[in-house]
Amino acid sequence: MSGTAYSHSRVGLFDQCPLAYRYRYLDGIADAFTTIEQHLGQVVHDVLEQAYAERSRGQAVDAGWLTAAFERLWHSPELATHRVVKRGVTPDEYRAQGLAMVGSFHDRVFAADDSETVYLERRFSLALDGAGSPVWAGVIDRLARLADGTLRLIDYKTGRSVPDPRTDRQLQSYALHVLAEQRVGQVELCYEGLRGGTSLTAPFPASQAGEVRGHLLARIAAIEAASSWPARPSILCNWCGFNPICPEAGGMKRLPRSRR
Ligand code: SF4
Repeated sequence: MSGTAYSHSRVGLFDQCPLAYRYRYLDGIADAFTTIEQHLGQVVHDVLEQAYAERSRGQAVDAGWLTAAFERLWHSPELATHRVVKRGVTPDEYRAQGLAMVGSFHDRVFAADDSETVYLERRFSLALDGAGSPVWAGVIDRLARLADGTLRLIDYKTGRSVPDPRTDRQLQSYALHVLAEQRVGQVELCYEGLRGGTSLTAPFPASQAGEVRGHLLARIAAIEAASSWPARPSILCNWCGFNPICPEAGGMKRLPRSRR
């Protein structure tokens, strides 16, 4: 295997559409556009990062602080360049969704959260299997230490579905790094579903690390063994940044309003 860096999003793109994977990672083609959903997700993540950083500096952070931070970050100079795919939905409706997410998170979690922030938005990479092995990379939204000493590895989700931390590989793979870095025998995985207001948690003991590592290595081996990258058209083509150059993307219908 090569020493190439892989990530949850890279492996996920191969599963979603091998041709899109080829465009981005093998041909080095940049996405033709970014979407309003990407902007929404980035702004919400930035607000929560800044809120916890401010609190760690001893400053008071209330719901109004989060709202003001969201408004400041939302109205970036690039706002008008983000593509709104869903017909009939305005950027302001996405702004309202984001405000609802950070407001709800404040009331449901942040206001009473007395955990210690270990770090925020931390990039990491680790060799999966010795010298020359593939590197696994990611960004940890927040690592927190709870009052009882438990380390909680947190990932924010702004989409409609929230992964099950007992089975989803993203945080499990991030836990490989935290277990080694913090020299602990277990971490708690937590997906914060910001849209629906759900917190899903599960313990991840070091005894599961080998199985996860083996799964990642097998997935990477399958990707590196690929000799063709077929298009896999779906409704997601409408959000794909390679849509303008993709011969398979034509004919996709935009979402009717009733299915949003
Ligand atoms: S437009 Fe659709 S088929 Fe084409 S690369 Fe993107 S996701 Fe794949």
